[in-house]
Amino acid sequence: MSTEALLVVAPFLKHVGGPLLGPAMLAGAARRAGHSVQVLDLAADWLRQVSPDLAYSPHSAFVGDHDRPAQRLRELEDRFLQETTPRAPSTRARVLRDIAVAARASFEDILNMSQALSRGPWGQWIEEGLAAAGRPKLLGISVMYSGQVLWSLAIVNVARRIWGDLPTVWGGAHITALQEQIAFEPRYRVAGHGFVFGYAEQTWVDLLDAIAQDAPWPVEVVPAGRGRTPAARADDHGPPHFGFLERTEGTMLTLPAQASRGCAYARCAFCTYPAVEGRYRQVSGGSWRPVVEQAVALAARVSFKDSLLVPTLLVDIAHAIAGRTSWSACTKLHPGLDRTMLASLAASGLGTLEVGLETIHPLAQALVDKQQAPKLLASLLDAATATGVSIVVNAMTGFPHIDPREEEEALATVEQAIRCRPGLAARLEHHRFELERRSPMGLNPDRYGIEVVGAWPWSSVLDWRATQLTGFDRTYSAGSNTERPRDLIVPRRAWPR
Ligand code: SF4
Repeated sequence: MSTEALLVVAPFLKHVGGPLLGPAMLAGAARRAGHSVQVLDLAADWLRQVSPDLAYSPHSAFVGDHDRPAQRLRELEDRFLQETTPRAPSTRARVLRDIAVAARASFEDILNMSQALSRGPWGQWIEEGLAAAGRPKLLGISVMYSGQVLWSLAIVNVARRIWGDLPTVWGGAHITALQEQIAFEPRYRVAGHGFVFGYAEQTWVDLLDAIAQDAPWPVEVVPAGRGRTPAARADDHGPPHFGFLERTEGTMLTLPAQASRGCAYARCAFCTYPAVEGRYRQVSGGSWRPVVEQAVALAARVSFKDSLLVPTLLVDIAHAIAGRTSWSACTKLHPGLDRTMLASLAASGLGTLEVGLETIHPLAQALVDKQQAPKLLASLLDAATATGVSIVVNAMTGFPHIDPREEEEALATVEQAIRCRPGLAARLEHHRFELERRSPMGLNPDRYGIEVVGAWPWSSVLDWRATQLTGFDRTYSAGSNTERPRDLIVPRRAWPR
């Protein structure tokens, strides 16, 4: 059977340990409905070609995406940018220093750069990949973040050159983040015939049905500029289809799974996950349990991709895995994550727990509505030290209205909390605050004392400056950063919901 749909993933993505979950969920849903879908992961292909020995180590203390060779991937990202990114006269110089900001350019610049890309050696490389896959009836473009936009447009250009005006649909987390812009701006039509917003397994099947029957497309697939942002229809009941899984000797294969969508907390003012993933719900075990069994059969690990796995789900997963393989998960600090619970999770195979701490700076915590007592972090680190679970702590600085020196002190305190526990395998992942369009801060900047001073059509982040913050009592003390300061006066109800 010829491939009905080709789902392409553009570089650059720092993933080397195994397949991606989103495209595999679409492929699984399509197969169950009798359609054939091929996933062409050009991001993984490029990494394999330039660095065949790049892989997750089976000997790392970290499981999931946290055992990736980070330094090597950074070098490859730089090389990728240097080799592939054409310069556009009006594009800011910093575009070339960071792939995630490669989309911070005007419509015209992005279009010109993508056309230059598709004509050069990079275009030839794309053409070879597409030609090997064969002409489909539908081209799907999956975009997870802004760093893939330019290269996704180049892929569409090449596909049109070799196959003509093929039906082309864009989706993924980044497209969902840009839905308002796409809905009201016809110029996005240059990218393709339709866009889908949100999890879209059922809509993808409906679209394949429509194409097979030469029927009208589902209403959830919208052309740009129509003023509509319908949520796509999801189907999380069935397992993903990963295709052929290759495991090289001496490396570790990691399979992605998901036990919930959305976020059970859903309040952090900087975060877009609740807006992009929709309301919180647990997904059927029919989708993640088969991944666990497949991983056990392949001696692979499982990385849970949930934005926040609540303790009850951690326990369910632990029971299902029952020590048969290693797994990783992301959660939030919680009093329930004590030594007893971590011991039980460790016995089930939990190797790495990632926690979204962001900051212990009290004013910053109040500003972004993510208030977590530092003693909860200390207790988690103690439990992890005792049980051998490795910890990844996500930290963020650069929040508006927060003194950068105090933020640095708070960050150093977290670093010290990790360092002072010999035997603990822990890593601090530091990010800078970015104002995301669909985060609470991006949707209501005035409420957070922020003024938006710039935007780019293909970027989900906004340029901003801090203005006046009102309704907030700044009487606080940075304190020791080990206890919540007693004189912190932040009336929670004064903060927007
Ligand atoms: S940062 Fe984490 S806990 Fe906060 S809303 Fe986002 S996903 Fe949920």
